[in-house]
Amino acid sequence: MISLVDLKRQFQSIKDDILKEIEGVIDGGQYILGPKVKELEEKIAQKLGVKEAVAVGNGTDALVLTLDALGIKSGDEVITTPFTFFASAEAISRVGATPVFVDVDPITYNLDPKKLEKAITSATKAIIPVHLFGQPAEMDDIVEIAKKHQLYVIEDACQAFGSSYKGRRTGSLGDVACFSFFPTKNLGTLGDGGIITTSNEQLAARIRKLRMHGTSKKYYHDSIGYNSRLDEIHAAILLIVLDKIDTWNEKRREHAAYYRSHLANHPLFTPPKEFDHLTHIYHLFCLGSTQRKEIMEKLAEHDIQSGVYYPQCLHLQEVYADLSYKKGDFPVSEHLSETLFAIPLDPFITKEEQDEVIGVLLSVKEV
Ligand SMILES: *Cc1c(COP(=O)(O)O)cnc(C)c1O
Repeated sequence: MISLVDLKRQFQSIKDDILKEIEGVIDGGQYILGPKVKELEEKIAQKLGVKEAVAVGNGTDALVLTLDALGIKSGDEVITTPFTFFASAEAISRVGATPVFVDVDPITYNLDPKKLEKAITSATKAIIPVHLFGQPAEMDDIVEIAKKHQLYVIEDACQAFGSSYKGRRTGSLGDVACFSFFPTKNLGTLGDGGIITTSNEQLAARIRKLRMHGTSKKYYHDSIGYNSRLDEIHAAILLIVLDKIDTWNEKRREHAAYYRSHLANHPLFTPPKEFDHLTHIYHLFCLGSTQRKEIMEKLAEHDIQSGVYYPQCLHLQEVYADLSYKKGDFPVSEHLSETLFAIPLDPFITKEEQDEVIGVLLSVKEV
């Protein structure tokens, strides 16, 4: 069986280090927001070139706490893409604001800056570009439009730790950024976790307060917050993964290049495109094909996992029926949801496994 992402193989490669660190945490006696969390926050802020990083319970909370800390609430609108994981929009709804969708670019699958301005109204407060599958969004254009209309830019960088845009790290490109440490994410742990990065120190201070029941002095509360913190064990594990992340991302890029070299210029497949100014780190390697169903069945017959990200666009989700979007509103996103599928790729996939996947793909006849 070739898995889409072989997490077991990945974490086994650092198992001894993890066990040693867990022992250290047990002996250290501090289990939530301790010294390892502080070290992780400092190292990530330094790596991305931002002033502050605030660790929280998960990537969704990172988005919710950020929106809350920015004062975004009922009556406000926040723009994002309909072609992303649900949490990008869910967080907007969670603070009572309204998600407004803008279609994506057909090549990068990310928020299309050309379509952005039309969606801005007097109620718009922020834009959440998503660096989907590890490919950075066209940030200069997005930030320029946001500046013109005085909107916050919140990067949803949950799938993109370590990617960069024009030589600058994603997570440092907007006002604030949100990452997830969910196990399958490039920088993942053995559980849930997330982090917010920003160079706005006041905003970071507000988020630090929100993650701890809205308090800065224990047992004295002047606001309503959340309980959303990172465990010391996860911070210790993430520090190990952080040391590896550039190497692992480079491996992902090599494996992606190998797939591309065999699948480019093939009439049946549209592989992800690389751009000089964008460093894609392949959280997922997705191919486009109008024969998706047949190809995925063929892969399954050969014990090769594949997956659809994402089968239903957010504007067509049942929960958003009251926003009155309809099929056809975002044709690019809808087409992608009908044609894209992910094939196995992670830092540890072997050439033999990739060759097997490629062999099955190339055996599919065009109809
Ligand atoms: C994973 C993910 C999230 C949510 O992160 P969790 O840690 O699972 O809460 C948000 N946005 C995107 C694009 C994601 O991929």
